[in-house]
Amino acid sequence: MLPEIDNIERYAIFLDLDGTVAELVAHPDSVHVDRSTLRLLEMLSEKVGRALAIVSGREIAVVDRLLRPLVLPIAGVHGLERRDARGIIHSRDAADISSIIFDIEKAIGHEVGVAIERKPGAIALHYRLRPELERRCRDIVHGVVEKRSDLCLLQGKMVYEIMPRGSDKGGAIQAFLSESPFLGRRPIFAGDDITDEAGFSVVNARHGVSIKIGAGESVARFRAHDVRQFRAWLSGLVDNSCEESVR
Ligand SMILES: [Mg+2]
Repeated sequence: MLPEIDNIERYAIFLDLDGTVAELVAHPDSVHVDRSTLRLLEMLSEKVGRALAIVSGREIAVVDRLLRPLVLPIAGVHGLERRDARGIIHSRDAADISSIIFDIEKAIGHEVGVAIERKPGAIALHYRLRPELERRCRDIVHGVVEKRSDLCLLQGKMVYEIMPRGSDKGGAIQAFLSESPFLGRRPIFAGDDITDEAGFSVVNARHGVSIKIGAGESVARFRAHDVRQFRAWLSGLVDNSCEESVR
């Protein structure tokens, strides 16, 4: 069930990208955001006075490329980097992960269908095309993280991510909410993956609207069956507020 929202202009909207506004695909590089979705994001952003941000595990540069020509505030790499509404980049000191990349490539880089994604200060090991390799991937990333007290492991859908400790989507949403134009607004956050749970917790604590896309346990208060249903709900937010302004 998705909630009815009155006065959308009083809200701040935070959206995960993959599996939330864009359909999940076999390889992370193949994700595409279509024109109608871009237009929807643009109209919604206008409705909420530009208080709309993308909160993704991807790098800011990659999100920008997917949303071109739209330029939005973005938290990238699960909050490790963040571009605020003024366009200022906030980034935590990246951990030195060069030796880890070497270890992971040596251990599994030769397997066809496994993708090793390098991000600033983080690394993601995708195995969506080779689900039978999950256990091996898990053993490899656990082995790496065990030796490094400055790093932690995030498990997403068919992906393991090695990140510096202390960054998550909840922290990124809190940072946005302390700044204009997000400040003083009630937050909405939607996501589809385990890494979005920290964001849901922050939004719940602020009496906001947390929305889980798809199946799976979650602390989110609302749920959309899939990307399509969630996008339809977002479109409804734009249409409802159009009707109100006409009245
Ligand atoms: Mg996602």
